[in-house]
Amino acid sequence: MSQSSLTPLRAQYLSIKKRYPEAIVFFRLGDFYETFDTDAEITARELEIVLTGREMGKGVKVPMAGIPYHAVDNYLARLISRGHKVAICEQTTRPDDNKGLMEREVVRLVTPGTVVEPGLLDGRRNNYLTAVAPGDSEAGIAFIDISTGEFAAAQMPLARIESELERLRPAEIILPQDSLFQPIFKTPLTRADARDFEPESAAELLKETFSVNTLEGYGVAALPLATAAAGAVISYLRETHQGAVNGISHLSAYSVSDYMALDENTVVNLEIFQNATTRNTAGSLLGILDVTRTPMGARLLRRWLGQPLLSIPSIRERQDAVDWLFSQHQVLAELERWLKSFTDLERLANRVRAGSALPREIIALKRSLEAAPELGRALNDKSVAELKANLKEHTDLIALIEQGLEAEPSGTVGEGGTIRAGFSAELDELRDMATGAKGYITRLETEERAATGIKNLKVGYNQVFGYYLEVSAANLAQVPERFIRKQTLANAERYITPELKEYEAQILSSRERLADMETAIYRRILGQITEFHQSLLALADAVARLDTLTAFASVAAANSYVKPAITDSSDLLVVGGRHPVVEAGLPPGQFIANDSTLSVDKGLLVILTGPNMAGKSTYLKQTALIVLMAQIGCFVPAAAAEIGLCDRIFTRIGAHEDLAAGKSTFMVEMVETANILTNATGKSLLILDEIGRGTSTYDGLAIARAVVEYIHTHLHARTLFATHYHELVAMANHLPGIRNFNVAVSEDRGEVVFLHHIVPGGVDKSYGIHVAKLAGLPKPVIKRANEVLLELESLKTGAQPARSKQAPPQLSLFQPPQPRVAVELAKLDVDALTPRQALEKLYELKDIV
Ligand code: ADP
Repeated sequence: MSQSSLTPLRAQYLSIKKRYPEAIVFFRLGDFYETFDTDAEITARELEIVLTGREMGKGVKVPMAGIPYHAVDNYLARLISRGHKVAICEQTTRPDDNKGLMEREVVRLVTPGTVVEPGLLDGRRNNYLTAVAPGDSEAGIAFIDISTGEFAAAQMPLARIESELERLRPAEIILPQDSLFQPIFKTPLTRADARDFEPESAAELLKETFSVNTLEGYGVAALPLATAAAGAVISYLRETHQGAVNGISHLSAYSVSDYMALDENTVVNLEIFQNATTRNTAGSLLGILDVTRTPMGARLLRRWLGQPLLSIPSIRERQDAVDWLFSQHQVLAELERWLKSFTDLERLANRVRAGSALPREIIALKRSLEAAPELGRALNDKSVAELKANLKEHTDLIALIEQGLEAEPSGTVGEGGTIRAGFSAELDELRDMATGAKGYITRLETEERAATGIKNLKVGYNQVFGYYLEVSAANLAQVPERFIRKQTLANAERYITPELKEYEAQILSSRERLADMETAIYRRILGQITEFHQSLLALADAVARLDTLTAFASVAAANSYVKPAITDSSDLLVVGGRHPVVEAGLPPGQFIANDSTLSVDKGLLVILTGPNMAGKSTYLKQTALIVLMAQIGCFVPAAAAEIGLCDRIFTRIGAHEDLAAGKSTFMVEMVETANILTNATGKSLLILDEIGRGTSTYDGLAIARAVVEYIHTHLHARTLFATHYHELVAMANHLPGIRNFNVAVSEDRGEVVFLHHIVPGGVDKSYGIHVAKLAGLPKPVIKRANEVLLELESLKTGAQPARSKQAPPQLSLFQPPQPRVAVELAKLDVDALTPRQALEKLYELKDIV
């Protein structure tokens, strides 16, 4: 197709589309964003909208699908959530400046990591765009949330990256084009030019962005990979959302060595952020702890949960604040009430700076500013003194908003309802002129009535002619010469006068000028608020911290949690520990509390045996959760706890459904175990459930035993090891650091009850048949299984097998041959017979004898 046969619009579209081959181009045409060709087909399909066509040159009809511009957020959200990128192409010249083809350019490339629209974001979690710069043994990582302005970078061992990604759960990851690094964490990946990851050019770009000569102040000067990743983030934003780059004011370097690394298994197994079955927050640790009242508090809580602390003083600092809040019921209730009135200060401060905050949001900002000192007033203890100091009063800012904005401003700026009267003399003058002219026109009606003697002369207004004077047919004779006729109706004529038009022009122009001036003044106010940017962010941070600490205190009070003592020993002593999530799902008081005791004196390794469904995993997980909760500064579900700081929590629980990835369950289990044994230290906590289960009994037992020995003799890590292999119980006899525990079961006249109580000693019974019965296996099967079990057990102990009434011939090979009647009887399922069938069988048997 030659270029000349295309309409200019089509040519313009194609040249723009060529630059964004991987994105869907939203091409602005008046009140619509149109998509064409394949983009239109995708858009129509994904958004379930009509696919039409448009003539764009001689014989050129192209597929087209459009969406109204005012509803763009909703449609964008759907496309982005399905993994598409969208290039927003706007008209850049106003229609009245240019009668020909309007200029257009792509102003933004919207990708999952660069979304800023409040409607597209979840307020309770961060939306991170992350870049990873992999090196040989180390890697750099940088992440930004452009809605909050948080921008940070770190350098860490390559092996640590995955858990960092797991923690951040980014919306999008940028990687160098040629890198072999492939994150396990599943999220949209963007491959960027490897040159964007060059440490030197990245450093230059960062300096230019922050207008500084050195990166020393940001702590990344000596971290080339962290710098590279941060530079790649900026390069990417320059391409996708230049406006966001202008809003970045700070980069902070952080060190992962300040925090406990949580690998994916641990996050998933302990159900920290979501329930493993439902994948919802409800039924997870976050679900229990998140009673925060503000979006910034909710985001901070997530961050804290993903970054358990490794420094005792930092943990104690949080604990002390929680402890004080916990003891002040009155204060707690008051804080909760005030916190509710806070808007998302952090995101709003950024929207103010970007110029996109709406007047109503500024009023919400004012309400938050008024609430801040109220929060501070309640904090009268040295444990919260620093928070109090940061909950500053912003009297100047409140005054500015109060004087500048209407108390209930209109939805959009430029309609006249935004700026308060008295704030700008110029604006007020314009307003007076507009109202003055309007008043004049109303007066004109009376004056013209008097001058012409036409009693029912009326001033009216319509879109086509503007203001007019209307005279009914009966009075036409009295119409003076100076009236200019404009329109004839059935019973009346409409006129204008030069004077009327003059005032009309005044009204219209002042209205337009009013809109412009109001917008300009509003922008100026936003600019003035922006001067408080840092101070607003500091306030947002203080509110977030207070909100999270308050949540910890409220949850502790509601569920009877206690403050754990944190030590640097290798002890883990929990008295009456509970599982926070399982407990919450049971009626009050129903959860059976259990102690966890792991210490150098008493023994660091516990082998836990007990039937399925007795509560082994619950116990293992609760112990790990108590440690995790303690290290984020939270109180714990226990009667008392003393916790020697853990450097990591490793978990290996159950079988994962990883078969799709081509690995057998056993392989996955062994890979996970290998990872734990190589990375755990004497400061770690190991939670191991059913190691060696995925293979044959002897293999599995051998591996399980070797693993226990290795942990006991080499790692000296605190370990809870749940197993089905009763044979492992004997290990405690010759390895001093190992103790046996089991989950108590009561047996009363054949009825088995799981007590969920962890007691010393090993067990040699599985109660699998009991569980099978609970699961609803048919009665005859349960009965038969009990018999087979008896046989097997007596075979094992070498005793004469107890004679079963129904022993089938196969199991009876060791016995003298059975008489035929006995064989027939053994085959009989008496329970399944009707009385009549039983009688018939009896006759049959009698015949044999
Ligand atoms: P196991 O790992 O031994 O197969 P689970 O830990 O999965 O068993 O526990 C099975 C069920 O028993 C849990 O879902 C819970 O409802 C209940 N349970 C476990 N521990 C307790 C406890 N300490 N108190 C009350 N109920 C419990």
